[in-house]
Amino acid sequence: MTKPVDQYQIDCPSGHEVSVPRNLLGEELVCPRCNSRFVADIKASAEERDARMEKAARQWLFLAVTAASLLVFAGLLAALLRLLR
Ligand SMILES: [Zn+2]
Repeated sequence: MTKPVDQYQIDCPSGHEVSVPRNLLGEELVCPRCNSRFVADIKASAEERDARMEKAARQWLFLAVTAASLLVFAGLLAALLRLLR
């Protein structure tokens, strides 16, 4: 589960990770390290990245479980057909 956070880690254009409070998302910020200006885009934050990866992992898990259930079902079906023969 992803819990809401108050601070987002967002990379500046030079790759410095900057802590951005939630209320500054979407605002133009200045990187404290290299002074470059950038817009705090939540889609670029580490938290968003993690959430996306978590979602992808869940989809893979779902696929794996579905495939495993299908295999079990196919096995049962084969056993049943053998019984009926
Ligand atoms: Zn920077």
